[in-house]
Amino acid sequence: MTEKIDSSFRGETAHASLGSEFYDPVMAARFPRHILRFRNDAWAERIGLARLGEAKWIDHFARFEPLPGSFPEPLALRYHGHQFRVYNPDLGDGRGFLFAQVRDLVDGRLLDLGTKGSGQTPYSRSADGRLTLKGGVREILAAEMLEASGVYTSKTFSLVETGEALQRSDEPSPTRSAVLVRLSHSHIRIGSFQRLAVREEHDAMRRLVDHVIEHHWPEAGKAADPVAALYECITDATSRLVAEWFAAGFVHGVLNTDNINVTGESFDYGPWRFLETFDPRFTAAYFDQFGLYSFARQPEAIHWNLARFGECLIPLSDQARIEPIFDGFTARFQKALARQTLARLGLAMPDDTDRAIGIVHDFYGTLYMSKAPFERTFFDLLGGGIRERLEASPERARYETPDWAGMIGTLQSLDPAPGLEPALAHPYAAGDAPETMLIDEVEAIWSAIDRDDDWRPLEEKIARIRARRAFSTTLGLLRGPNARPNHVPLAD
Ligand code: AMP
Ligand code: MG
Repeated sequence: MTEKIDSSFRGETAHASLGSEFYDPVMAARFPRHILRFRNDAWAERIGLARLGEAKWIDHFARFEPLPGSFPEPLALRYHGHQFRVYNPDLGDGRGFLFAQVRDLVDGRLLDLGTKGSGQTPYSRSADGRLTLKGGVREILAAEMLEASGVYTSKTFSLVETGEALQRSDEPSPTRSAVLVRLSHSHIRIGSFQRLAVREEHDAMRRLVDHVIEHHWPEAGKAADPVAALYECITDATSRLVAEWFAAGFVHGVLNTDNINVTGESFDYGPWRFLETFDPRFTAAYFDQFGLYSFARQPEAIHWNLARFGECLIPLSDQARIEPIFDGFTARFQKALARQTLARLGLAMPDDTDRAIGIVHDFYGTLYMSKAPFERTFFDLLGGGIRERLEASPERARYETPDWAGMIGTLQSLDPAPGLEPALAHPYAAGDAPETMLIDEVEAIWSAIDRDDDWRPLEEKIARIRARRAFSTTLGLLRGPNARPNHVPLAD
């Protein structure tokens, strides 16, 4: 194997064309050690980097030597944001930067390679600009699991352990350090617009809007009011995202406006959790004392963020056009939730949307009241309650209770999705149990690394999650009616 960048690789500099007031060129930290812990070969292949040898990989993704055709030096992006509803103008990339932009060789879309833990920037405030190794491992697990669950997410591209000892209040310290590279279709967030609105930088706002339309939502550019059309695209994409989180039982934890990407892609995984049982009040972040970002309040949190985004766009459009789109968020979310939930169950969305919404509402109600295990229920009810699946389950007695028997009767009245039959034949569906990502599993994976430097549990977990992703692809969850352009399934 020749250890090089493929000739098809295309570095890009789109973000620089916005102008220097959007970012600060920065230098990466120099780390005492570089130990490659994770590389995403499927995505490396997709951008023409699969043939990079380990030394070169580390040069680019831990020492941040520029990639050909992209930025000569990394860019710390400028943004503000509401954190827990309080406006903070002192944000910006404080421990990361936009390292490079590249073309996806499969679908032609622009991709960002952004970092986490790459050193201090003008936005670090008093913090160290570093990422803990545990934080990096958690981000790998979150992104892999979300992708396997049919959630539109950033991908973890690389993780290199860096040999520093970090002090953290939320981890036993000193704790190990790492630098992570994330692949995502943009790092422009609601907070990027808020910063320009507060500073009354109208020309720059116009440029940012045009840039996001050109690179991420070109169809909006064809509308009579491209700004309102952009708002509609992003409202729709984020309503789908929050529905995907809901159907995956995922609690992001920190839904501040600086963590909401204009692509509707989920990213920035800190205190996230997957639910064990349906619990509307489950709160992931220990610092979220009031449960603002609890599981069932995620739609409301995103809706609130969209209000702040709409306020930025009104001067370029018209309140009379922005407001009805904002008001339509809940209906979009409910429809997306119905579609995503039924898709997970391998069932077709009925023509009658209100009926679908009602069924799915009852489904989550039953899940909540019965305290049934979240993933196990989706696994057992694949196909709407096929007798052999129910009988094979350790939960079988539950499905005979009146509430579940009634629910299953309703699900059985729906048509199967096209992917159901091949999905039922998939080894994942034939297995004993669903692949989950509960906190005890995450802690056990971390503890093997921390105590024994044993990386096998992580590698084995990733392999099992990818088997679940292959199953989800067969089911049509990654390319159904809810597919986004980058959900072209990878070769599994
Ligand atoms: P987050 O909660 O990860 O979205 O981060 C919120 C803000 O704090 C962003 O501006 C981050 O860049 C910054 N930040 C978080 N952790 C660190 C750190 N260890 N060093 C510097 N800045 C940080
Ligand atoms: Mg963030």
